[in-house]
Amino acid sequence: MDELRELYQATILDHNKKPRNFRELDHANRSAEGHNPLCGDKLTLYLELDDDNRVLDAGFQGSGCAISTASASLMTEFVKGKTVDEIDASFQRFHNLVTSTMDEPEDFDGLGKLAVFSGVREFPMRVKCATLSWHTLRAALGGEIEPAKTE
Ligand code: ZN
Repeated sequence: MDELRELYQATILDHNKKPRNFRELDHANRSAEGHNPLCGDKLTLYLELDDDNRVLDAGFQGSGCAISTASASLMTEFVKGKTVDEIDASFQRFHNLVTSTMDEPEDFDGLGKLAVFSGVREFPMRVKCATLSWHTLRAALGGEIEPAKTE
């Protein structure tokens, strides 16, 4: 278990140091801003959707702690090629994973690399860091103009 934890930590540190998709998209047709006042994490998310509500491309910019940056990096990789319905289902599963209690079984089903955030449930203060990019994603998909808040 410790080895797995180290591996998870290494993935988060790697994505924090070299965030994937850290750019504004030229052809974005959705975007939203997210802010986690508890930690000071801020991000702007850009999405390009096709006519079938499938994500063609995703990018983000902003600044925040390692967990929020790694979460946005891994999330933008994860959502490419997925439909809005698939993303909603994944968000539910991800949210359940990071907010479950330690004695509940971990459910990684279909989450792929996002499983690295399972350790966050040990640190309730960090849950909002891990979910900020997802709340922002939902705001972008819902076309909300107000900035996303984790509260
Ligand atoms: Zn944070």
